[in-house]
Amino acid sequence: FQQIETGQKPGDELAEMGRTFNEMILLLEANFARQERFVSDASHELKTPLTIIESYASLLKRRGKQRPEVFDEAVDAILSESVRMRELTERLLQLARSPEADSLEFGDLDLARSAAESARAFIRAYGREIEVDAPGSVPVWTDAAKVRQLLFILLDNARKYSEGRITVSASGDGPGGAAVLKVTDRGIGIPESELPKVFDRFYRVDSSRVRSPGAGGAGLGLSLARDLAQALDIRIGIESEVDKGTTVTLIFPREERAREKPTGERLSR
Ligand code: ADP
Repeated sequence: FQQIETGQKPGDELAEMGRTFNEMILLLEANFARQERFVSDASHELKTPLTIIESYASLLKRRGKQRPEVFDEAVDAILSESVRMRELTERLLQLARSPEADSLEFGDLDLARSAAESARAFIRAYGREIEVDAPGSVPVWTDAAKVRQLLFILLDNARKYSEGRITVSASGDGPGGAAVLKVTDRGIGIPESELPKVFDRFYRVDSSRVRSPGAGGAGLGLSLARDLAQALDIRIGIESEVDKGTTVTLIFPREERAREKPTGERLSR
């Protein structure tokens, strides 16, 4: 993009327009660079499982018929890498979906009920023990489907990076009586130096920490969570201690403030 020369005279409308134009160009350029990086990071992430699938498929073709152990190993690897690729593609689609298709739908929601429902669905899907600590109702004005999506990302991380009990709590005792949702695990934790980076796109803390290979994701979950939280005016925070566990906290806006947001506001990325 080409910047245009602007004069310095105050009150000069043409110069003012020029400055606005230049600011617009800077914004466009930043957006452009971000998108380019996103596409190149995404392609890179997709290439790894594809390469593994390709090499195991060719191994199958060469030796699968004669050697049953090779057959089993190859089929297992192909299956788990395919699952990884499907999950990755779903996340990428969510991140890249055009803002128009993603309008928010605000309404009344009881966070306590939402936490209990998500926990039930999660227990059914993964058979993990989840404790729900939500003694009373916690009303909020928000987009229920997006909150569910957020909660699933956090539960999914808790599941991947811990083995014990997971706790979900909902309460109205945040600052100024704000509604608060917390997901706590007692897993491997995150070193303090890595904490500020975990919300970055494609960022992963050293993947060798995860016991079962392939259990780590592509580093997109928390960045999607941050985008969703931002769109819903929710503050998101993470606390963690290595080998003790991690807690992610969502603080919801006060209802009056949430209601100021026009329904149908777009998710901006
Ligand atoms: P991923 O899909 O890799 O889990 P996320 O964006 O959700 O990506 O998280 C980024 C990184 O932060 C993860 O790769 C992991 O190293 C670390 N992380 C996230 N949640 C937890 C957690 N509950 N316990 C330990 N580490 C976590």
